[in-house]
Amino acid sequence: MSSACQSCGACCASFRVSFYWGETDACPGGTVPADLTTPINPWRVAMRGTEVAPVKCIALLGEVGVSVGCSIYSQRSSTCHEFSEGDERCNDARARHGLPALQAAISVS
Ligand code: SF4
Ligand code: SF4
Repeated sequence: MSSACQSCGACCASFRVSFYWGETDACPGGTVPADLTTPINPWRVAMRGTEVAPVKCIALLGEVGVSVGCSIYSQRSSTCHEFSEGDERCNDARARHGLPALQAAISVS
């Protein structure tokens, strides 16, 4: 996690975090602990705690906007990987928690 993310966590406490069930460890090759997910249809699951309001992923440790961590960071879903510091959804999530917008990270590739 970036230093900004370590003092944020807003995206883990704003949106439903859903993904194909095959990303769970109930499927060979899957990584996300299945017992931390809940089915939302025959093909997709969501991280528990993100399918209800107020949203807070069950894997999120700490206090949003202060200090946070992900208890399954190396096993997190593709949806979690898609969040990028400073992009539109990041700043939408931050605004929901009263946090200031960030600049998008500059790619040097
Ligand atoms: S909302 Fe943005 S800054 Fe906050 S944890 Fe998510 S990606 Fe990082
Ligand atoms: S699994 Fe980790 S990175 Fe993904 S939403 Fe939950 S706390 Fe955030």
